[in-house]
Amino acid sequence: MTDRDDHVKRRTDERLSVVVPCYNEQEVLPEFHRRVSAVMAPLGLPWEVVYVNDGSSDGTLKLMHDLQDAHPEVAIVDLSRNFGKEVAMTAGLEACRGDAVIVIDADLQDPPEVIPQLVAEWRAGYDMVYARRESRAGETAIKKATSRWFYRVIGKLSRVRIPADTGDFRLLSRRTVEALLQLREQHRFMKGLFAWVGFPQKAVIYRRDPRFAGDTKWNYWKLWNFAVEGITSFSTVPLRLATYCGIGIAVIAFVYAAWIFYKTLAYGDPVKGYPSLMVVVLFLGGGQLIGIGVLGEYLGRVFNETKSRPLYFLNEHRPSAMGRAATSVEESHD
Ligand code: UDP
Ligand code: MG
Repeated sequence: MTDRDDHVKRRTDERLSVVVPCYNEQEVLPEFHRRVSAVMAPLGLPWEVVYVNDGSSDGTLKLMHDLQDAHPEVAIVDLSRNFGKEVAMTAGLEACRGDAVIVIDADLQDPPEVIPQLVAEWRAGYDMVYARRESRAGETAIKKATSRWFYRVIGKLSRVRIPADTGDFRLLSRRTVEALLQLREQHRFMKGLFAWVGFPQKAVIYRRDPRFAGDTKWNYWKLWNFAVEGITSFSTVPLRLATYCGIGIAVIAFVYAAWIFYKTLAYGDPVKGYPSLMVVVLFLGGGQLIGIGVLGEYLGRVFNETKSRPLYFLNEHRPSAMGRAATSVEESHD
């Protein structure tokens, strides 16, 4: 068999997986499935969609079961509780069997209609095709500025280049998925992990839609934690508190310094040296607490990683028809 034949053969048994983390998405799931099927079916390749139920408290899981009863391409990964999107995504990546895997949000903010473009770039030889959003007209100037600032700072601080204006919506080749699954850290800053893995990458530009229905699970506090890289774990909160105490004391010291400065000018300074001493003591104290807080941030992460707990637990994994076929082929090879 020539190289070319080999190549053609490989193309014909390529499989695609779509991985969808879902947390309380009952309003959008049926519409999502309709749109994803409309896009995937015409591609003419075997495909599956892996819905990861990330501990939803609404009817999301029931809807997934209904979808699976009606459509053999549906796989369900049901996590034991809510682990957050990053871990849900990882569970989906672990369960999917495709040669190329598309990660997409359930809320239809990432339009499934972009998928054929991602697949085309993958066929052209790229291992990671990320969908970069065109900057949104509806966004506030503050949001745009903070996001630009965030990418600039993180670009300066780390050696991996994280592309701006990209979410998790992207296509990964099988070898990229395998590489990603070897990174078992608890603090899964996915944008960083994707970038860290490397391999040939390509961007596809698209327009991000507003959420189809339901509410975003993000709030500003969550976004802040995301930006300081990592989800707060219950046991690192006291450490983090030190940072804020430090900042608070530093600010108070500064205001106090200004006040003493004014008072000394206006009324004189009966006890020599006392005001400046106070200012220095408070200022240094604040600075030290900030330092300890930052140390604590890192120590907390080390603490979490040394526990080396599994990333998640499954209630149940119900593979798709494609997934079951892939497993039985592998077993017959053994
Ligand atoms: N999500 C999840 N677990 C969570 C929070 C969110 O699996 O704890 C999923 C959610 O169902 C959606 C995706 O992650 O498919 C993105 O969530 P969301 O739309 O709330 O985030 P945003 O688009 O505002 O970044
Ligand atoms: Mg969203």
